[in-house]
Amino acid sequence: MGSRRCEVTSNIPPRTSQLGGMTLAVYQIVTYPEPVLREKAKEITKITPNIQRLIENMADTMYASGGIGLAAPQIGISKRAVVVDLGDGLIVLINPEITKSEGRERGKEGCLSFPDIWGEVERAVSVKVRGFNLKGEEVFISAEGFLARALQHEIDHLDGIVFIDRAIKIYRD
Ligand SMILES: [Zn+2]
Repeated sequence: MGSRRCEVTSNIPPRTSQLGGMTLAVYQIVTYPEPVLREKAKEITKITPNIQRLIENMADTMYASGGIGLAAPQIGISKRAVVVDLGDGLIVLINPEITKSEGRERGKEGCLSFPDIWGEVERAVSVKVRGFNLKGEEVFISAEGFLARALQHEIDHLDGIVFIDRAIKIYRD
């Protein structure tokens, strides 16, 4: 994939909105069964200003939607980038990979692409994740519990896997 292909080509332009006095660029979240949610997302080979802007807009979209994680396919862009924030600060991961996972536990999960549906999903208790940040620096994250769950959920999106695929039980709020 040439670097040219890193250009952002979403056909869904972000709209701006006001949240807490700041102007945010907010994308429309695509909901299941949009085909993009089933695609294997493409690696990001170069972190261009457009990619940086895309990821900043993903974070804005996540915050404006009240979510705790968002993957690029959820705004219609089939690229390997996720954002997560459980209230301890924004985590950006470009081309993330789970390098180690340990244990299994069940927990409740929702997804911005599945409004009003929740599921009981079995995930690894702890994971190690490797990826790149917005500056192109390699980052390593060790996570357990809910952060590990959120990372596994978002990284699944990059492989076209959604939480209902793994859910043991699905219920409506
Ligand atoms: Zn999701």
